[in-house]
Amino acid sequence: MKQLSGNFYYREHANQDPRWMRGQLTITEDGYFGSFREDLTVQGDYFLPGFCDVHCHIGFVAVGQLATPQEALAQAEADRDCGILAIRDCGNLEYAPGILGNRALPPIIRCGRHIARPKRYMRLLPIEVENLNDLPQVMASQAEQSDGWVKIVADWIDRSNGADSDLDPLWPTKILKEGIAAAHQVGARVTAHAFSHKAIAGLLEAGIDCIEHGSGIDEDQAQECASRGIPVTPTLLQVELFDEFAAQAGKKYPIYAATMQKMWERRREHFVMLHDAGVQLLPGTDSGGYQPHGELGRELMLWERGGVSASEIIDFATWRVRDFLGIAAIELGARADYLRYSSDPTGDLMRALSPEKVALLGREFPSSTSVSRDNSLRISTKGAV
Ligand SMILES: [Zn+2]
Repeated sequence: MKQLSGNFYYREHANQDPRWMRGQLTITEDGYFGSFREDLTVQGDYFLPGFCDVHCHIGFVAVGQLATPQEALAQAEADRDCGILAIRDCGNLEYAPGILGNRALPPIIRCGRHIARPKRYMRLLPIEVENLNDLPQVMASQAEQSDGWVKIVADWIDRSNGADSDLDPLWPTKILKEGIAAAHQVGARVTAHAFSHKAIAGLLEAGIDCIEHGSGIDEDQAQECASRGIPVTPTLLQVELFDEFAAQAGKKYPIYAATMQKMWERRREHFVMLHDAGVQLLPGTDSGGYQPHGELGRELMLWERGGVSASEIIDFATWRVRDFLGIAAIELGARADYLRYSSDPTGDLMRALSPEKVALLGREFPSSTSVSRDNSLRISTKGAV
């Protein structure tokens, strides 16, 4: 039995708000939190629950390019070393051996493969549903093969319209409703890739559980997300690229390019609007493909630039996202996964993003990432995949 002494962002049970408590916390032989004893005389380090990344594709080195098993392993290590101690993958192909169930890597909640229509998403990644009526059955089958989540692509450019092509929904609302119901039936939740405004109303009507990107959500919809407890993963690092997507679409798809450019120009005020509406924000890097692994800090710094306070970001990125995913934080009986600091990270995002150590099941690893105010980021060579 090991023992940690210091200041813990602790709660006795899930679904309570944690508070800073000083004392001693034991860790069992198999790596779980045992008993806590409050002791105000204790001096020591500070402990936060690990960060989560709810949108993290391990196994891709670039868009449509698969990682080797060694590269995939290095990606998972880079994620861990920047403090991401639990992942929801948000759509993936197969995992390289040694990643799932590895005690030295963040546990992964799998969402199965992306579900899209033919030619309506990135090559290679999705299951393509030819016949719309098959959607419920495809969603149910992905739900059965995943860890309680299904990922659908709700909108993408429809190139069949030539120069008039725009970012358009993939599914009629009726079929989407049946698909989501089929996933719910087998106990899974559903999240959706949605850049556009056009896709959101259908998703909300169909009973979606979570929205990825969400750059087209308007104010009324944001309020609906807040009141119904539908969180949004704003993936601000990804939205930062929308002007590039617009430029690439250029003259061939001017309407699509204009849609992307407009969202890029409004991206900062849009994020402020989401937050002001009270939407639960989920930390998601969209790493693998466009974004490198191990850079959650850069995403969260964009949140801070968007007016979210450091304390709120720390809550969103640790125990609040854990509650949403159903993963324990620092509490009795939970996996002993934590971030360790030599000084108090409260109210200081830079400090919170640079733990001295990260731990999984009580085993500590050095943190490889440090961030600075100018948004630059230093990553160990191990993490630079
Ligand atoms: Zn993604």
